[in-house]
Amino acid sequence: MPELPEVEVTRQGLDPHLHGQIVTGVVMRRAGLRWSFPEQLPGLLSGRRILSTGRRGKYLLLHFEHGSLLIHLGMSGHLRILPAEQPAAKHDHLDIVVGAQALRMTDPRRFGAVLWHDNTEGPLEQHVLLRGLGVEPLQADFNGQFLYQQSRKRSAAIKQVLLAGDIVVGVGNIYASESLFKARIRPQTAAQRISLQRYQLLAHAIKETLERAITQGGSTLKDFVGVDGQSGYFQQSYFVYDRAGQPCRLCERPVQQIRQGQRSTFYCAHCQK
Ligand SMILES: [Zn+2]
Repeated sequence: MPELPEVEVTRQGLDPHLHGQIVTGVVMRRAGLRWSFPEQLPGLLSGRRILSTGRRGKYLLLHFEHGSLLIHLGMSGHLRILPAEQPAAKHDHLDIVVGAQALRMTDPRRFGAVLWHDNTEGPLEQHVLLRGLGVEPLQADFNGQFLYQQSRKRSAAIKQVLLAGDIVVGVGNIYASESLFKARIRPQTAAQRISLQRYQLLAHAIKETLERAITQGGSTLKDFVGVDGQSGYFQQSYFVYDRAGQPCRLCERPVQQIRQGQRSTFYCAHCQK
């Protein structure tokens, strides 16, 4: 599943092809994905200029003068820039055409979403899917002090609190396990029992982990342009994630695996307290 770094790398890869371009057509090959595509999408976008691209959590944003298009990649979605005349394959559901090129959305499992927010409906941040989101982890207002303050009444395990997304967005399963390892915090620890000092380490670890993933993903940018498909969901080498039973990279004791809220958590019982 695409996580925040994949979405940000996607945005960075698409931006040079979309920023400032005028939409010349929209091709919808089915009525929708997780939800129906916005009615009138061709009329809404055709002839309009893409002022900028953006991202909020895992929503990719295309900003126009009169509103914004929100794109979510769901479980299996991909976005690529292709020649507009490239024939569509089976799971290619939507094209946003900009002259000779098209932004093409491919989504075999169809959990993705494309939504329109019109500026007449109010500020984009108040969109029903965005307004409950926590802060962006790479922005300065996300820091140890913020995590500490926000977690004083949260008795749930810190990993669950990170994944919940209402304090901070985009720290998915992989990045939560990796960041907690780097901060030496055991994932089961009640969020309200973690000290300010340890939260400062954790906030730093989260930023570092996400930034590294984005940097590594940047080397796959060329894959966003081309016909060869499988763009940009990059494999990295992890400290603990998906390494159950393998030696911890610090102490060489076996990495533990537990279940928390239906998700696997990986940690080192020696290094993380
Ligand atoms: Zn260890």
